Amino acid sequence: MTTQSLQDFTQCAIARDLAHCWHPFTPQALWGREAEVLMLQSGKGVWLTDSLGRRYIDGNSSIWVNIHGHGHPHIVQAIQRQAATICHSSFLGFGHALASELAEKLTRLFPSGKLTRVFFSDDGSTAIETALKMAFQSCSQTPGREQRRHFIAFSNCYHGDTMGAASLGGVSTFFSRFRGFGMQVTHVREMDELRALPTDFTDTVAGIVIEPIIQGVNRMTPWRPGLLRELREYCTQRGIFLICDEVMTGFGRTGKMFACMHEDVIPDFLCCAKGLTSGYTPMAACLTTEEVYNSFLGAYSENKSFYYGHSFTAHPLGCAAALASLEVFEQEHVLENLPPKIALLHQLATELRTNNPYVCATRTCGLIAGIDIAHQDGTPFHQDERAGEQACFAMRRHGLLTRPVTHDTIVAMPPLCINEEELHLLFRAMDAGIREGLDKLEKRP
Ligand SMILES: *Cc1c(COP(=O)(O)O)cnc(C)c1O
Repeated sequence: MTTQSLQDFTQCAIARDLAHCWHPFTPQALWGREAEVLMLQSGKGVWLTDSLGRRYIDGNSSIWVNIHGHGHPHIVQAIQRQAATICHSSFLGFGHALASELAEKLTRLFPSGKLTRVFFSDDGSTAIETALKMAFQSCSQTPGREQRRHFIAFSNCYHGDTMGAASLGGVSTFFSRFRGFGMQVTHVREMDELRALPTDFTDTVAGIVIEPIIQGVNRMTPWRPGLLRELREYCTQRGIFLICDEVMTGFGRTGKMFACMHEDVIPDFLCCAKGLTSGYTPMAACLTTEEVYNSFLGAYSENKSFYYGHSFTAHPLGCAAALASLEVFEQEHVLENLPPKIALLHQLATELRTNNPYVCATRTCGLIAGIDIAHQDGTPFHQDERAGEQACFAMRRHGLLTRPVTHDTIVAMPPLCINEEELHLLFRAMDAGIREGLDKLEKRP
């Protein structure tokens, strides 16, 4: 297309968006006003191209989902092959070979006999809903456990946006107005607060939910080492299910296949989604134990079935993508190649903190970095200045796309296939964008 027709095409797409679309987690009053709306068109590896032909590094893995880069031929071909065979069949009343193969492969990622059962759903939130409902119902139909109806979650946690998952949420901006809906949830900050809870209360707890190793939405904050292992011991001693939300951390993001593997912890429920298909299609899985599974067995009239599911449960295109993604892990030795990239990301984030006057703290974990920004004197930006957004808008001019999480933390979380040169490019663009975007705010009277 000519430059003129690319511009016309883009203008038309933006006009339609402004007239009819509603974006997630977006103050729509500012949408299209603060910055130009980018229409993303295509992707290859860590690179995204917009409708005007401009290229950017995908600095947050297309909202934390992409693992092997865009347009990976092995995954694309698997989806194409499956699409030409059949796109969707029902998992309600029927099975299909891709889902059974994927279920077996997922369970084999863990020591044998631990997480033996897989319940598929569509996204992170529904994987969490699955775990909550399963934990709750399992207790309700297990003699001696019927009184376990509560959940415990951690302050500032994020587990998704459907009502049950949202009722766990600890970020008040998102969730406080919905309090009172969903599950009964008590929040704790750390193990000491958990241990201080009286036994007559903890005896009513079905499960404790945690984002293992690192909390994502809470400014990319890693847990202190050892906490997850202590939590596992605590749960085991008290007969409470441990539910690990690996929606963000799963599939290599923290340097191991799953974050709980850093502390040799196996939860009773493990939820994964985002990276399961390398981010190519919506797809999620909740893994659990044979013990939980067995509590749903019985005579039909006992009414112990798990009455839960969605139209697209175990979607064949998602299963094909997920299987192909697991193959890429092996073919390309993805986990084995991560340590030098993780070390470089940590080094570049540390250098950014030293050299950039607006960066006041950085945290990294695996191939994830949280970069905190503030005024040069260290005072926080006012919320309405949207400093994180302004910095990210400026990064676009330097060929980088990413987003802040909760106010003033900017995320660097590239696909695992990023190479060292691209990591350098990412951090150079990050540095330039932060300076440009925030110089404007700093100089304002
Ligand atoms: C993204 C995310 C979710 C929710 O997943 P969706 O696919 O957006 O529903 C849940 N937990 C964590 C830790 C996440 O990062």
